[in-house]
Amino acid sequence: MTAPARIAILGGGSAGWITANLLAHAWPGSIITLIESPEIGTIGVGEGSTPTLKRFFEVIGIAEQEWMPRCQATYKVGVRFAGWSPVAPWHAYRHPFTTQIDVHTEEAFVLNCRNRRLGHDVPVQPDAFLLNGVLARQGSAPLPAPHFPFAIEYGYHFDAALLGAFLRDTAVSRGVVHRQVRVVAATRGADGDIDALVTDGDERIAADLFVDCSGFAGLLIERTLDVPFVSYRQHLFNDAAVVVQTPLAGVPAVETLSIALSAGWCWSIPLRQRIGHGYVYASDFLSPDAAERELRAASGCGEQATLRHLRFRTGRMARHWERNCLAVGLAQGFIEPLEATALHLVLNTVELFIGHYARGDRAAFNEAVSARFDGVRDYIVAHYKLTTRDDSDYWRSNAANDDLPDALLHILDTWFRRGDLTEALRQVGERAHFGSVSWHCLLAGYGTFPPANQPRRDDVDFHAARGIATFLDGCGRNFPTHAAALGMA
Ligand SMILES: Cc1cc2nc3c(=O)[nH]c(=O)nc-3n(C[C@H](O)[C@H](O)[C@H](O)COP(=O)(O)OP(=O)(O)OC[C@H]3O[C@@H](n4cnc5c(N)ncnc54)[C@H](O)[C@@H]3O)c2cc1C
Repeated sequence: MTAPARIAILGGGSAGWITANLLAHAWPGSIITLIESPEIGTIGVGEGSTPTLKRFFEVIGIAEQEWMPRCQATYKVGVRFAGWSPVAPWHAYRHPFTTQIDVHTEEAFVLNCRNRRLGHDVPVQPDAFLLNGVLARQGSAPLPAPHFPFAIEYGYHFDAALLGAFLRDTAVSRGVVHRQVRVVAATRGADGDIDALVTDGDERIAADLFVDCSGFAGLLIERTLDVPFVSYRQHLFNDAAVVVQTPLAGVPAVETLSIALSAGWCWSIPLRQRIGHGYVYASDFLSPDAAERELRAASGCGEQATLRHLRFRTGRMARHWERNCLAVGLAQGFIEPLEATALHLVLNTVELFIGHYARGDRAAFNEAVSARFDGVRDYIVAHYKLTTRDDSDYWRSNAANDDLPDALLHILDTWFRRGDLTEALRQVGERAHFGSVSWHCLLAGYGTFPPANQPRRDDVDFHAARGIATFLDGCGRNFPTHAAALGMA
């Protein structure tokens, strides 16, 4: 199929504007209109990314110097988890973004994890093996000196509202038409396709392709085309969040902090002038008032700070591309913000769509996107299933939840049977969205090892044997401090 002549994007949240920029870049001949209602507004959260956002800006040709200061953005090399395990020494661990130079150390990490599963007391903390873990500990920005011969992967923290405004200005400057009206209905033609959006002023906006970025409303994909919703509720209990901001004192960290609380977890996302905090919890286990109290204590925001409450549902559309409609962002599904994958999935979806559209291959596209959602879900579910916390009904119910997806069961079974996890993930294929190193970070970082009931093999500590501490220490000297990189030193 050739590129659609007229594209209407419904929704001007992060998903809508990212989609507008990518489609304008891929299909310069198309007329793209983005319609949003200022009265409805955007969700206003979603301030941590994966390295995919870096690639997005590279694709649309925007330099960091241009967008980062305008969006209060800082560098992010991974996530630090604290309080997820009550057992020493596993109280805290890091999940760094893997990066090119890790090829020299990740094999030792995987081998040490295997030896640990066999009962050997060898180091398995991810940040002892992975460069971005070292940068997080040092507080260094992931911007190597010019002579450092490896590409570094990293993500960002940013102000969601400012990022949306920046992406809007960029898209409009590149020809995207911006309409601020409320859509009250969508009409369908005789063939069942959507033919127009109808506004509250009774205007009809016709297009060949409609992109549903209307957030949880799912106005086109769900309410107009009746695509079923596949719920993740039996696997993931969280359905609410309460958020607050505090001023930043000092230099922002280069990682997101994720602290486990009584009925969920709290993020801490450092920007240039403030820190965003949010407690993601399960309303079946905790009231909004109790969540507020815990968030105030965890964030130190004080009694006067204004908190905002949100509800969400977890799951995805059975199909993301139906007829002449593509769903992107919260309209297509949401897992939950642990590991900050929502914008990553937005980018994956649009990139895959552009590739599949030319071939008209809807089924393969829908299968690939659903596999990514399910793969991320499995990785997130493992964080809850593997808990050894026993201090609330919430954690006990998560640990006791035996309703696990098959792919996750296979991964956990391989791990606890001391099998080859990398090979198991290869078998799971696309349904294991996170790679082998990430799974090792989670399972080893969390300290979930099989009982040492087998005779010890004569294996070694590959961390020591390969001099990894010295190697990474040397690498780490090639990076500036985060404060210097942001001009805050
Ligand atoms: C608690 C929480 C934390 C999160 N944290 C992260 C994170 O750290 N990292 C991450 O990547 N993601 C995160 N996310 C997800 C992230 O916020 C979203 O994926 C992202 O903001 C995209 O949202 P959206 O554009 O799909 O929807 P929204 O921001 O809700 O935008 C919907 C748009 O549709 C428009 N609209 C709706 N109905 C109509 C109508 N009838 N007429 C006209 N316009 C209409 C609205 O005006 C708005 O412009 C988080 C989400 C939640 C709930």
